[in-house]
Amino acid sequence: MVDLNGQYEAIKTEVNQGIQEVLETTAFINGPKVHEFQKALENYLDVKHVIPCANGTDALQIAMMGLGLKPGDEVITADFTFAATVEVIALLGLTPVLVDVDEDTFNINVNGLIKAITPKTKAIVPVHLFGMCANMDAIMDIANNHNLFVIEDNAQAIGASYTTKSGQKKMAGTMGHVAATSFFPSKNLGAYGDGGAIFTNDDDLAHTLRGIVNHGMYQRYHHDVVGVNSRLDTIQAVVLNAKLPYLDGYNAKRRASAKAYNKAFAHHPNIELPAMANGCQSICDQCDCHVFHQYTLKIKGIDRDALVDHLQSQNIPCGVYYPIPLHRQKAYLDERYLESDFPVTNRLSDEVLSLPMHTELDQEQIEFISKTILDFIDG
Ligand SMILES: *Cc1c(COP(=O)(O)O)cnc(C)c1O
Repeated sequence: MVDLNGQYEAIKTEVNQGIQEVLETTAFINGPKVHEFQKALENYLDVKHVIPCANGTDALQIAMMGLGLKPGDEVITADFTFAATVEVIALLGLTPVLVDVDEDTFNINVNGLIKAITPKTKAIVPVHLFGMCANMDAIMDIANNHNLFVIEDNAQAIGASYTTKSGQKKMAGTMGHVAATSFFPSKNLGAYGDGGAIFTNDDDLAHTLRGIVNHGMYQRYHHDVVGVNSRLDTIQAVVLNAKLPYLDGYNAKRRASAKAYNKAFAHHPNIELPAMANGCQSICDQCDCHVFHQYTLKIKGIDRDALVDHLQSQNIPCGVYYPIPLHRQKAYLDERYLESDFPVTNRLSDEVLSLPMHTELDQEQIEFISKTILDFIDG
């Protein structure tokens, strides 16, 4: 599914030297490279504050802690996402409220979102799933009208952009009140271990968050709030610093592969291609509104799982993200949910199929993968 070796070859000297330097200076925690990465990412995203932390799940949790959400507050998010999003909501004693997603974009459905708002609702967590932003114009309008916080889960869409209705181009993760991202190795900007970051344009919130990541300390040994211990290792910052200048190039390669897959599967009655949104009709070379963290097809009218078995038998990796909607997960069952509230996620969990997607895919691999799929479907 992912091949990280090609990326390493290009940054090998810088990474090896940088890690060597960390070893020799023993600046393992909060070394200068962490600050350097923070500044470089602020610059890349055009956001005022980046707060590095230990992983993307922590980033989401810390963002919610920083907003002062209290037990019993309701937080609305998508039913179709990685469990981390809902996990931290529940962990903080907040009440997760799951909402169905859009059939074409896989992102939170705006009508469902509006219907889910109650007097207890305090925040919305849109997830920019598979590399494309949720409908941020509508989400920010709803949030402003109802006085809600917006926490973008940007773990899968770093480097993607979004054009607002006023024509402004913004980076994913810079539109809500705060955003969380992950540098898990397979993410579009991946470290060589765990890592994460929180972004915000709010100076006060940034100050609060910097304390929370460090045991709630704003002054040494003065603990003003309950915090956590969540840091980005200096060694990971070395890797991320080396990779950041290549991120746009990595994402362009992903887009080129997506385009080649799209061409191979075009106009097939059993295959639905990934949709584009935000005014885009198709994948174009300049447009970065989709960064294809996953390339996800919908398989219609045939047994998706039989196709998965066949691909595995041909040694072609593939993934089903996500096979079980969150409202059906044991940990998040809630009697308020009706199956009829989630027609789309229920269907998607049976139909989605994600194909190998990374920066090292070549035309031959894409042809082999797509031919194997088409041969299976067309018998
Ligand atoms: C990967 C991911 C996370 C969690 O990131 P970690 O760094 O693995 O903790 C959260 N949300 C989404 C949507 C993700 O894909």
